[in-house]
Amino acid sequence: MNILDILFPRRCVSCGKIGKYFCKNCRMKIRFTTHQICPVCEGWAIDGMTHPKCKTKYTIDGLTSFFHYDAVIKKGLKLLKYRFVSDLTEEFIDLISLSSLQSLLQQFSGQATTNNQSTMFIPIPLHPSRQKFRGFNQAEVLGIKLAKKLNISIRTDILKRVKKTIPQVEMQDREKRLKNMENVFLVNQLATNDQLPIVILFDDVFTTGATLRAAANALKRKGVKKVWGIVMAHG
Ligand SMILES: [Zn+2]
Ligand SMILES: [Zn+2]
Repeated sequence: MNILDILFPRRCVSCGKIGKYFCKNCRMKIRFTTHQICPVCEGWAIDGMTHPKCKTKYTIDGLTSFFHYDAVIKKGLKLLKYRFVSDLTEEFIDLISLSSLQSLLQQFSGQATTNNQSTMFIPIPLHPSRQKFRGFNQAEVLGIKLAKKLNISIRTDILKRVKKTIPQVEMQDREKRLKNMENVFLVNQLATNDQLPIVILFDDVFTTGATLRAAANALKRKGVKKVWGIVMAHG
């Protein structure tokens, strides 16, 4: 046990029990994703592949979500959003079973032309002013751990968030929502040795999906052929 665990003991994010961020009891309440959804219409989709009818040239190709965004997972992700707790990110990633990671990798190796090196892992960036305010990007801290486990290189130099947005859930009007997500992301010029057969976009939560779709759109307009989304949870 290290000194920090004595000074600031880990408490379960859900019930407060001392020991771990996810205690044994609360772990059992976690709902894993059994059916993946289409990242456009949110209906069930085989392996999370975007339905052909939901797809245009620049649409995200699919989505993998590990958990339902409720109860224990929701509390954990909310805590992580406002306080950077390194050990918590580790426990979070450890909740994901090895088998679901393996099937994910299999899915990608089937799609990639070469090996894992040709897959890029890009966490959804925050707007710089927001990141400065918070001190860290929760998608990035989780993404670093997950990418390492998947053995895929993480890139934070390609996708930039250049416009601040109003949370989509607060906007009812479809037209306004679309306008809100216009030109949010900028894709840096890709180096010529970046072949980019597949980009994996990673975010903590999928709510309306607008952010992931906008980021995928920006990447595809710059010539990326395949963009897949991975999220910890969908709500
Ligand atoms: Zn608990
Ligand atoms: Zn669909």
